[in-house]
Amino acid sequence: MSTDILPSYLAGTWQTGTGEGREVADAVTGETVTRVSSDGLDLGAAVDHARTTGWNALAELTFPERAGALKAAALALQERRQELYDLSARAGCTRADAKVDVDGGFGTALVYASLGRKGLPDGTVVVEDDPVPLGKQGTFAGQHILTTPRGIAVQVNAFNFPVWGMLEKLAPALLAGVPTLVKPATPTAYVAEHAVRIMVESGALPEGSLQLVCGGVDGLFDLLGGQDHVGFTGSASTAARLRSDPAVTERSTHFNAEADSLNFSALGPDATPGQPEFDLFVQALVTEMSVKAGQKCTAIRRAFVPRGQLDAVTEAVEAALDALVVGAPGAEGVTMGALVGRSQRDDVRTAAGRLGQAGRLVFGDPDTVAVTGADADRGAFLSPLLFRADDTTRSEPHEVEAFGPVSTVMPYDDVPDLLSLVARGRGSLAGSVVSHDGGFVRDVVLGAAAHHGRVLVLDRDAAAESTGHGTPMPQLVHGGPGRAGGGQEEGGLRAVYAHLQRTAVQGSPAVLAAVTGGAPQP
Ligand code: NAP
Repeated sequence: MSTDILPSYLAGTWQTGTGEGREVADAVTGETVTRVSSDGLDLGAAVDHARTTGWNALAELTFPERAGALKAAALALQERRQELYDLSARAGCTRADAKVDVDGGFGTALVYASLGRKGLPDGTVVVEDDPVPLGKQGTFAGQHILTTPRGIAVQVNAFNFPVWGMLEKLAPALLAGVPTLVKPATPTAYVAEHAVRIMVESGALPEGSLQLVCGGVDGLFDLLGGQDHVGFTGSASTAARLRSDPAVTERSTHFNAEADSLNFSALGPDATPGQPEFDLFVQALVTEMSVKAGQKCTAIRRAFVPRGQLDAVTEAVEAALDALVVGAPGAEGVTMGALVGRSQRDDVRTAAGRLGQAGRLVFGDPDTVAVTGADADRGAFLSPLLFRADDTTRSEPHEVEAFGPVSTVMPYDDVPDLLSLVARGRGSLAGSVVSHDGGFVRDVVLGAAAHHGRVLVLDRDAAAESTGHGTPMPQLVHGGPGRAGGGQEEGGLRAVYAHLQRTAVQGSPAVLAAVTGGAPQP
């Protein structure tokens, strides 16, 4: 890849911004990968292109036809996935990390294509329910329909999942008939750009249904209104800034946020050393700390264990962390790659410093790490860092997200204590309970559910097939209340419906049948 400005794909052509742009460095070598600028690009023309060319092209397709286009785009990505793995390595990803993003991305699109083909009607309108009688004579009733808004979907994505983050938003928008403009995060925009290039070159998607702007989007929100949808993933502070834009506060642009969160995992009192659940808990924590070097919004940041098991758990996690090999993706034996860049590493070190005020660092050193296959001074490498906070009254572990290979182990005394600690995260994307005790599991799941978008129960029965704490599934809701942004993505067809306008239609049964074509579909 040259170090010229990274192209954007707007109004049907590849275009480059002007100026110096923001430099993006290779996470492993520190060399410049590309420069990112949107200066001089005409975002107004891109929005017009989406509203006209893109919208009209999608409107001509039925739901199953859109599903077919989505499937073809996903298969093109699958076919060329090696190119995306190679680029992801420059962002610090091992092959396993890259698969989470790349295979997770086209896999999600394929699941949506299947849902669209099998679960949506052979048309462009969803009839949601049977007519509800509204009068005693049976001459007047109401029914809900879902139609495509006259708008566009703008995605603003986080750096950690340039492919999956784009596909999980693109898929439901495309099925809903809403054209998309993607704004990737700058540190990994070159991976997103290549994924868009593959989809464009495949010719699978209708013209105007997918556009990409690499760089800033000043003025874009001024062009959005009540028919448009913004899907944001990133930090809580950026979410707060965008949520307060007049597009959202005055013109009611739909705004869905997925923000950072302090996800928990709890070990049950039954899961003592020697029980399968004890080992499953330790493995899950180490996996969540090391996959993508802990740069996962769903990673376990708070690990709660029965007070009497604190020593045993901490020692077992330390031993497992000690077996990790940090280094260049692809180098012999490496099991954990680099953070996306050195400034991200600085942020994680600062956050870890705050966590260190509440607990003792029991594994790792924030300032040095042995690195395999790369120069530790040039790459954004960081040791896994495990904190142990015996005093759970401190606020930091419940408030500070260190977006890297960092977690804090804390004790709890009983279920009410555990649930009050869980709630101190003020809303999370994912939680997990690791126990084979049905009563404990029930109490924790029901007690934690109000604060979570997803709760996973891990035990000896489910372990072999379990998709794991940190993996959102396209069939299931992804998103969480409160600090996690208050949004919902995925969840099967729920995400498609979230892009459609629900309208209650009232009239005589004959009129309703004429409008809706009869019964709910499918
Ligand atoms: P970020 O700094 O908040 O950036 C997120 C996105 O917002 C980027 O595309 C960024 O673009 C863009 N942005 C920043 N300021 C903007 C503005 N004024 N107008 C429009 N766009 C703007 O977050 P990040 O560092 O990329 O991602 C890490 C965070 O995301 C973590 O806190 C993590 O927990 C969270 N996250 C959440 C999820 C989830 O599903 N809930 C998933 C992944 C990550 P630039 O890069 O060009 O500045």
